Amino acid sequence: MTPPPPRLEIRNLRRAFNGRAVVDDVSFAIQPGQVTCLLGPSGCGKSTTLRMIAGVEMQDSGEIYVDGQLVCDTVFRLPPERREIGLMFQDFALFPHLSVADNVAFGLKKGSKAEKRARVVELLTRVDLMRFIDGYPHQLSGGEQQRVALARALAPKPKIMLMDEPFSGLDNRLRDGIRDDTLTILKEADTAVLLVTHEPEEALRMADEIALMRDGQIVQRGAPYNVYTRPVDRAAVSFFSDSN
Ligand code: ADP
Ligand code: MG
Repeated sequence: MTPPPPRLEIRNLRRAFNGRAVVDDVSFAIQPGQVTCLLGPSGCGKSTTLRMIAGVEMQDSGEIYVDGQLVCDTVFRLPPERREIGLMFQDFALFPHLSVADNVAFGLKKGSKAEKRARVVELLTRVDLMRFIDGYPHQLSGGEQQRVALARALAPKPKIMLMDEPFSGLDNRLRDGIRDDTLTILKEADTAVLLVTHEPEEALRMADEIALMRDGQIVQRGAPYNVYTRPVDRAAVSFFSDSN
């Protein structure tokens, strides 16, 4: 039997701005339940890669597949809302005028009112925020807001979660707990996760696989331990040590 295709696969993605390639022949695949961290210094092309997968930025060449189905190449383009992808960004704020429940329900297109409510309760229970169900974002701490954002992103049961530095705005004290909780919840849901970060520590803590990016290219891929203990070159050594 042939194994199932990866949940997410990107092949030879390229994107240039003003004649300069910022994403240059990037390929990788992520399985359900797997967390891949795209790790690299600021400006190396991480967010542009993620935005092309989300469908809000168009590649110049290369293809994106979800469960083996073409989602986007230079001719065909499935719109972002049909890609079954969830998004979490550092500054992807909650809607201030909507209650916590309505924020979580926002992405739920299908189902009756009662079904939506049940899903909201299930998710808010999972992120341990039921006590805020009728509250408003401004009543919540940064970490609590980020957990609501996670519940909102998970509500439509996305196959893939794209996270762009989602923990950078959080207090150091809270960050590790939220990272671990987020990971547990995403793993339980069997979501394929692409986590973008410039912090080696975060990638080492959260990734099943690290893809180390530099100047638009992936220069090394592997399990965190291997990437950390056997850096591909001097630049990788200093990237890991400078950031500590
Ligand atoms: P990262 O997320 O790794 O910090 P980005 O993907 O945001 O990097 O950016 C990669 C490079 O592409 C940067 O040099 C950035 O200035 C440039 N860039 C990103 N988006 C645009 C754009 N819309 N127009 C021109 N340059 C851009
Ligand atoms: Mg970025």
